[in-house]
Amino acid sequence: MAISGGCRCGAVRYLLAGGELPRVYCCHCRACQSWSSSAFTEQAPVRESELTVSGALATFTYQTPSGATSTHSACAKCFSRVFNVNERLPGYALLRAGTLDDSHAIVPVAHIWTSAKQPWVVLPEGVPAFDEGAPQDEFRKLTGLE
Ligand SMILES: [Zn+2]
Ligand SMILES: [Zn+2]
Repeated sequence: MAISGGCRCGAVRYLLAGGELPRVYCCHCRACQSWSSSAFTEQAPVRESELTVSGALATFTYQTPSGATSTHSACAKCFSRVFNVNERLPGYALLRAGTLDDSHAIVPVAHIWTSAKQPWVVLPEGVPAFDEGAPQDEFRKLTGLE
């Protein structure tokens, strides 16, 4: 059974092959706060080949602070950001996990950039948390990246 999701207005919909909710991590950095106009973002690395998107997308490309090119795709109508790709993660898309139809079933596997976390956000015990970005090998293990 495919996992599904979409934007706020319904113009963009997607299917994710594999039948399981992807592993989600939360980023509490300031950029994610302003970009989401919220306290943190929820992202899930998924194989691009397993993601089928329908509907018109608007894209925004920028250089990350570390110099990588990142291209973000949002619904062209309601501007919900749906996923992004990063040249340092070939073959993967970072799905914005709040767009999943089953987003209420998500249990994040990690929290990063907790040094910038909003003080009222209380992290659950036992979930790995990192002051800044997680070390690459740990991040890959936690999120299931190969
Ligand atoms: Zn939309
Ligand atoms: Zn962030």
